[in-house]
Amino acid sequence: MIYLDNAATTKPNQDVLDTYLKVNQSLYFNPNSPHQAGLQADQLLQQTKSQINDILNLNQAFDIVFTSGATESNNIALKGIAYKKKAFADEIITSVLEHPSVLEVVRSLELEGFKVKYVDVTKEGKVDLNHLANLMTDSVGLVTCMHVNNVMGQVQPISEVAEIVHQFPKAHLHVDAVQAIGKIPLIFEGVDSLSLSGHKFHGLKGQGVLFVRNIHQIQPTIHGGGQEFGVRSGTVNLPMDIAIVKAMKTSVQNTSELNKTLHQFNKDICDYLSRFQGVQIHSPQGSAPHILNVGLPGVKGEVLVNAFSKHDIMLSTTSACSSKKASLNEVLLAMDIPVKQIEGSIRISMGSHTTHEHIEIFKDKFNKVYEEVRELLR
Ligand code: PLP
Repeated sequence: MIYLDNAATTKPNQDVLDTYLKVNQSLYFNPNSPHQAGLQADQLLQQTKSQINDILNLNQAFDIVFTSGATESNNIALKGIAYKKKAFADEIITSVLEHPSVLEVVRSLELEGFKVKYVDVTKEGKVDLNHLANLMTDSVGLVTCMHVNNVMGQVQPISEVAEIVHQFPKAHLHVDAVQAIGKIPLIFEGVDSLSLSGHKFHGLKGQGVLFVRNIHQIQPTIHGGGQEFGVRSGTVNLPMDIAIVKAMKTSVQNTSELNKTLHQFNKDICDYLSRFQGVQIHSPQGSAPHILNVGLPGVKGEVLVNAFSKHDIMLSTTSACSSKKASLNEVLLAMDIPVKQIEGSIRISMGSHTTHEHIEIFKDKFNKVYEEVRELLR
């Protein structure tokens, strides 16, 4: 089986699994317990956070909160910031590029009465900086801009966005960096909060991190025992937290090398696909190398995913298989990609376990799938 769906999830590294098991066996204590074992667990929790601080060179600029994944990190941050600022800055700026764990939170805030404005997306799949500058006002309390898009891989101009946003002192910039870590260098400068998800960089599912420049900017939305600065109540999962540091260290240390390798694989696939009539590459220039969105107009994405699956190639579709425009992928629509291409789009996503051999096998199988669907291509 060739796994090319790493944007959905990645295989956990062995040392991550080993650490998780070992810590669970020997250090299963609750860091909130007042006894010796609890204190030891709490010390380890603090050490874990300071290791993350070192790995990412954060200089203690952020409070670090462990969560169950990026969905939870995004929810805690976006709702917490919006509520805190509601009285004096109740406008939110976002874009359709965002993952549903951001977009749906913003939509729910809109129903609660917040004013939401959407930044235009350029044909290259980036937030339109001029439009963003035009949308900014003194009433904007929150701006969201993801680091790398999960549908087609485009890298967003975080530094430029931060510069525009911070001309307005009440505005907070939240960045979903789930698809960026380990693939490109992370940008923290000018960012007020940032989310990560462990299973996207060879950690475990059910593990997320939220970085917040000043935790008091967040109004708690999960109430309980007051763990994690009071913004994420619930017993801390120390084995998971220690395991994620393993995954993060490996991932961050190998970013530059992996980026080069994946660029080669990406180019190799693009060169190969360019021989096939009708095949369109949707991922724009400058995208992160691990995500390649491709369209075969005339064939539904789901049909293609099934065809590849029968050849033991696991990849995914990015379009809801429907002729109704409303259910087409919003990101690709915003980039002005024709509907037929969007309907026939697939996402090939690589990771640190992807090898040259995998790419060769994928190319061979692509040829076979293409022959199978050739009649349908328009
Ligand atoms: N943000 C982005 C960009 C993602 O790709 C994903 C997962 O696909 C998430 C957030 C949500 O992560 P999780 O499912 O770990 O909560």
